[in-house]
Amino acid sequence: MLLRHTPKEIKERKALAVNPAKTCQPIGAMYAGLGIYGCLPHSHGSQGCCAYHRSTLTRHYREPIMAATSSFTEGASVFGGQANLLQALLTIFTTYNPDMVAVHTTCLSETIGDDVNQIVKKAYKDGTIPEGKYVVHTSTPSYVGSHVTGFSNMVKSIAVQMAEKTGKSNGRVNIVPGFVEPSDMAEIKRIAAMLSVNPILFPDTSGVVNGPLTGKFEMYPKGGTPISDLKSAGDSMASIGLGAWASAEAVKALDAQCKVPCQVQDLPIGLLATDRFVDALRTVAGVSVPDCVTQERGQLLDVISDMQPHLYGKKVAIAGDPDQLIPLTEFLVTIGMKPVHIVTGTPGKAFTKRIKEITARFGDQINVQNPGDMFLLHQWIKNEPVDLLICNTYGKYMARDEDIPFVRHGFPILDRIGHAYFPTVGYKGGLHLLEKILGVLMDRKDRDASEETFELVE
Ligand code: SF4
Repeated sequence: MLLRHTPKEIKERKALAVNPAKTCQPIGAMYAGLGIYGCLPHSHGSQGCCAYHRSTLTRHYREPIMAATSSFTEGASVFGGQANLLQALLTIFTTYNPDMVAVHTTCLSETIGDDVNQIVKKAYKDGTIPEGKYVVHTSTPSYVGSHVTGFSNMVKSIAVQMAEKTGKSNGRVNIVPGFVEPSDMAEIKRIAAMLSVNPILFPDTSGVVNGPLTGKFEMYPKGGTPISDLKSAGDSMASIGLGAWASAEAVKALDAQCKVPCQVQDLPIGLLATDRFVDALRTVAGVSVPDCVTQERGQLLDVISDMQPHLYGKKVAIAGDPDQLIPLTEFLVTIGMKPVHIVTGTPGKAFTKRIKEITARFGDQINVQNPGDMFLLHQWIKNEPVDLLICNTYGKYMARDEDIPFVRHGFPILDRIGHAYFPTVGYKGGLHLLEKILGVLMDRKDRDASEETFELVE
């Protein structure tokens, strides 16, 4: 009964968030930086911020997350952090020898007003950044937006500061996968390969934050988008950004800068969103869909159809990032479930409109809040109980208090494994998600069944 003081009565709150459904911008920027091969993320602020960002990612992935910091003290907080960043870049390149450093700001350096662009230019001019090495930088003030905004800002900056246009097409398709798991990034590449599309996926954390245990420490694991691919992104045939919140800015910026035509799709979570992604790949690359993809789709459809008695009409509460929640809500509706309470902490006006469109068949019975928090979600659940809760690890308190079957999905997941290795995007990912949902629902049914209704075959 850890949240026993959450009242059922809902009072309007504007200035106060309780248990926010989001975390801070630099975490997303740091995660994006890790998805470039040989890149060391750098936090331009105090050590405390960097320690928090690294520890959150370390706990989620159970991998040591490498990142540097400008280590602001009182002096830098008053006079600005230029000297700290220049010294940091010198130390980083001489000691850790990365190919790239991805600098993001923090609340402190943003409030001071440090001109990071100017500092990086000076570092290039002074030779602090060695020949053939790169520093990209982005602004991530955490008093606005969320970790998704930080991810988006860093990916856009990587695209703008690294992509080059030679005028000769490389015959490839840029895919910006959004703030998803390394398993999802690998699955997106697998789907593209099945369609004979050779993508430039950036960032790509597969093989970086879910690498093997080899007994040997690798400062820069084998995964990640090669810098040569980032440079070549300006010569691609097209760009597909997955998720309007995390990826749209990057593909639009590439379009404006290098004239690479772009489109923004939902993350391919569930049957319909994956259909749209496959169709987008097929169209931009001018390929046809092979039988192996149709077969995977058919398998997902088969399981949805077989398991309808366990899914139909079940009420669901969900919280997470908007790019995840939109296709997830669509998937739940597709499989016959009823998402009734939906909360995201990342602001953006289009969210509520999309969710209302997807859930239109239920009329006005759906609660949607953006930006909202977990406290409100709990209150909604108290007023209208649900059969299933889907959100990150923080949902476990609500699930325990209200005795609700619980599927962990989103960021962060601090108390289970699997998310880094098993995707939830694509048809295979949909099957995995469905297996998780059915697992908790059917376990609950077995737990609550009387001896006469306890069935061997379900
Ligand atoms: S001070 Fe800002 S950047 Fe640092 S941890 Fe807090 S919210 Fe994040």
